[in-house]
Amino acid sequence: LAKGMGKAGWQRYQSDLAHAMVQRLELRTQLHEAIEDEQFVLQYQPIVELVDQRVTGVEALVRWQHPTRGLLGPFHFVEAAEENGTIIGIGGWVMREALRQFAAWKAADPDTSLRYISVNVSPRQFLAPDFVEQVRSALAAAGARPEWLLLEVTESLVLKDAAKVVQDLRALRALGVRVAIDDFGTGYSSLSYLRQMPVDVLKLDKSFIDDILTSRQQHALVDAIVTLAGNLDLAVVAEGIEEAGQRVALDTMGCQYGQGYHFAKPLWPTEIPALIEATRPAALLA
Ligand code: C2E
Ligand code: MG
Ligand code: MG
Ligand code: MG
Repeated sequence: LAKGMGKAGWQRYQSDLAHAMVQRLELRTQLHEAIEDEQFVLQYQPIVELVDQRVTGVEALVRWQHPTRGLLGPFHFVEAAEENGTIIGIGGWVMREALRQFAAWKAADPDTSLRYISVNVSPRQFLAPDFVEQVRSALAAAGARPEWLLLEVTESLVLKDAAKVVQDLRALRALGVRVAIDDFGTGYSSLSYLRQMPVDVLKLDKSFIDDILTSRQQHALVDAIVTLAGNLDLAVVAEGIEEAGQRVALDTMGCQYGQGYHFAKPLWPTEIPALIEATRPAALLA
């Protein structure tokens, strides 16, 4: 690595590294303050029906409006927040704000094709003893119906405390809340535990979708997962669709839903109503 760098280059490399570490540490300590000052904002990325591209749901994605560094995506802070526990406060705010916003969209347009809001839940947040109660009270505070909420959890959660996780997933579904496995295929427990997990939706990770048009093996693998999911009564959302050809291939496999830049990037809340209006069946036929 240091080869050919020279002494000056090596020193600069070391000081850049130190600088990056200091920046990360700084961000980490600022997370507490960021919660108190409400520095977080949400973008919403549409989830569509592959057959007609109609918007069926939106996923809330958190960003940090940092006072000096500008808008920061989750990559910059979610892991640190998970480590120092601030993810519990951040996640609680995300849940309340996403439900408040969604209820407002529903109230403004009761006939909208928009059926649900997807909210990411980190393992630490889910494992908090009162998580189910938090969800219940967030729904009540927003005046939101449980059917409007889809919680996205990751495969890693299941490995932490399977008994508590299964119990709470059952309690949530008894309320009417639905649950998705996010980034499916990137963890290592995958197919075998799907039988035991009380979930409703699989979100197939982008890394599985990337090569379906160029690799026969990858195409076959995704096709098999979609079929298996269907047999287990799970809905499938394909993540990270960037090309028209991927949409067609997935639709042909029987995958019902998709998300990705091909349809829409994460959007600001003000952009959502017009988008939903534009994808009403009547508008699509016109
Ligand atoms: P995720 O839940 O799998 O969300 C999808 C991510 O992929 C988003 O990145 C989205 O902007 C990006 N994406 C969507 N379509 C495409 C595409 O076609 N191409 C490419 N290259 N990317 C696409 P984002 O917003 O940066 O979020 C990254 C991750 O951060 C999320 O992955 C999720 O794991 C986490 N995250 C986001 N919001 C929250 C939150 O409120 N709470 C928690 N705990 N985690 C969150
Ligand atoms: Mg997600
Ligand atoms: Mg995902
Ligand atoms: Mg993902």
